[in-house]
Amino acid sequence: MTGLLEGRTALIVGVLNKRSIAAAIANAFAAAGGRLALTYQNERTQRDVARVADALPGDVPLFPLDVTDDDQCDAAVHGASEALGGVDVLVHAVAFAAASDLEGRFADTSREGFRVAHEVSAYSLVALARRVEPIMLARGGGSIMTLTYLGAERAVPGYNVMGVAKASLEASVRYLAWDLGAGGIRVNAISAGPVRTAAARGIPGFQSMADAVTERTPLRREIDAADVAGTALYLASDLATNVTGETLHVDAGYHAMGL
Ligand code: NAP
Repeated sequence: MTGLLEGRTALIVGVLNKRSIAAAIANAFAAAGGRLALTYQNERTQRDVARVADALPGDVPLFPLDVTDDDQCDAAVHGASEALGGVDVLVHAVAFAAASDLEGRFADTSREGFRVAHEVSAYSLVALARRVEPIMLARGGGSIMTLTYLGAERAVPGYNVMGVAKASLEASVRYLAWDLGAGGIRVNAISAGPVRTAAARGIPGFQSMADAVTERTPLRREIDAADVAGTALYLASDLATNVTGETLHVDAGYHAMGL
């Protein structure tokens, strides 16, 4: 895949540590010749994100970004654009729901828990897409992608309010694809099967979910972050020139099954 992103730049939001799906995407983009900027949510996570950046080739600028803070959204997008000389690709790999809202019944989700899950996991894509749009327009187009999960389409016990927020995220992808498409900006989602990351550990019953999925996938195997990164690279590149408004499943085929 060498050269697929030669001369392209990407802002990648959602690296927590080296096991993050976003870290695998950063590795794949860098190997394809892309120049990158990363973000970290707060000082607690800055060191781990810096380690991921240090392992990448070249100078990888880092920007603080809590996606609930409009000023930080502005600063991260403009900082990345200045540092890289523009942004061609935006990767959004951010999600959060309070543990208390994932433990019980979805029916008992609190008003505040519902709001926070949607703000961090879905609205943040809209907020970042709007900011990156003029920068991509100036470069003749671009590619925006986000990460979602089957719990948006089906009820997955334990995924609860996060599934409803992911449904909002997937709908946002389609509306953004329409709004930004006139300027040549593509917007897509990757629906990943279970990958063992920090966020996944916060989902109650993740292990049994992953085991059940492995037994029932057409390919009879787990996926890993590198599998997702391959599809992200495709979506970032000219290979996906006319692909937008799409949710692509990278789940060894599990979504196609009825049991
Ligand atoms: P991860 O390594 O824990 O990444 C999640 C990221 O979201 C972290 O960097 C986290 O930062 C960030 N985040 C949460 N709240 C934020 C905020 N307010 N502002 C900025 N960043 C914030 O886990 P991951 O599994 O790679 O998750 C990446 C994406 O893939 C998520 O959208 C997730 O839902 C999706 N996904 C994961 C799986 C899976 O099985 N792992 C499957 C399908 C989809 P902090 O930790 O510092 O808060």
